[in-house]
Amino acid sequence: MFSPSANIAQLRESATIAVSQRARALKAAGRHIIDLGAGEPDFDTPEFIRVAAQRAIDAGATRYTAMEGILPLREAIAAEANESWTGTDRVTAGEVVVSTGSKQSLFNSCFALFGSGDEVLIPTPSWTSYYEMVALSKATVVAVMGDPAVGFKVTAAMLAAHATARTRGLMLNSPSNPTGSVYSADELRAVLTLAAERGWWVISDEIYRRIVYGAPAASAFDVSPTRDNLVVVNGVAKAYAMTGWRIGWTISPAPLAKAMTALQSHTTSNAAAVSQHAALAALTMRAEADVAIASMVAQFAKRRDAAIAILHQDPRIEVLRPDGAFYLYIRAPGAGTVADAGTVFATQLLEKADVAVVPGSAFLTPDWVRVSYAAEQSQVEEAMRRIVTAYGA
Ligand code: GLU
Repeated sequence: MFSPSANIAQLRESATIAVSQRARALKAAGRHIIDLGAGEPDFDTPEFIRVAAQRAIDAGATRYTAMEGILPLREAIAAEANESWTGTDRVTAGEVVVSTGSKQSLFNSCFALFGSGDEVLIPTPSWTSYYEMVALSKATVVAVMGDPAVGFKVTAAMLAAHATARTRGLMLNSPSNPTGSVYSADELRAVLTLAAERGWWVISDEIYRRIVYGAPAASAFDVSPTRDNLVVVNGVAKAYAMTGWRIGWTISPAPLAKAMTALQSHTTSNAAAVSQHAALAALTMRAEADVAIASMVAQFAKRRDAAIAILHQDPRIEVLRPDGAFYLYIRAPGAGTVADAGTVFATQLLEKADVAVVPGSAFLTPDWVRVSYAAEQSQVEEAMRRIVTAYGA
């Protein structure tokens, strides 16, 4: 009879994944579910990337690679980082570790950096897995609640107010999942300067950086006074519509990169060889990539605007206007009076309106729900009409 080990006794399943699994199961059972649960671009991986991967398979990319990833890919990642980082200590391939998705890179970072007795600041709401990864590392989560009036962004002062002598690190994510908020360069600089002064590790998850609707989003590399305590995490999943290829990476000081490579060598080994070659094409065939990303972002922008226009038909509906990523954060009806109003609303939407969304409790804000608009436009619009109807019901 199975009883969970102490390692995972407190672990909760991922709500973002669970919602999609449930939507998939209901679809298989014949229901016409509109799945706005997991954040996954509905686009196919651009053709130039697929072709590069096919060629790589034929050229023999079918074996183990270096644990930390193939050198040309790590060089391409370092070169991209150096477009932001202007310090004299140029980013090198030796500071890059390629993994099986930015989720693994985030886990590697938390596991390698944090431990028992450490406190880790997490601006809240944040992506559900940050909380679990920090807890799996035996460190203590310190949720720093943002202000909904400014898209739930936190300031350096708010972080400082939650810090103690045990604070060891900070999770950053701009553009943010689940709110779509984007920190300005000045906001990010203030946070990174505080972290540098205090000696905190910063794990900056920049997976949505290329999905923005206004000015480009700043990277931590653009504004951090130092790279000594900085880990930048990114990957190809979202911007290049490559979720299934599972390629992410960290850029960190070399000793930490070495430790994460060792960790990976005992857990997953190298990321899939063919996927690394696909990612290499994504990062190096710049002209093709820029066209593909611009086209996808333009479509996300259209969906965002259409969705918000429909939601605004009911003036009671409070929705954050995202500047990046592809999520709408909506305050659930009954928020403030009904316990876990987001889960109540998400359940109602799934069971009565056939729309799958993620309850805000997954992001430690139970009054809200997260809706992904990385789905076909007519589906997004239909789902919004159903949300408006359900809101008034
Ligand atoms: N990161 C996406 C999301 O938040 C994909 C699912 C997951 O890995 O959590 O929906």
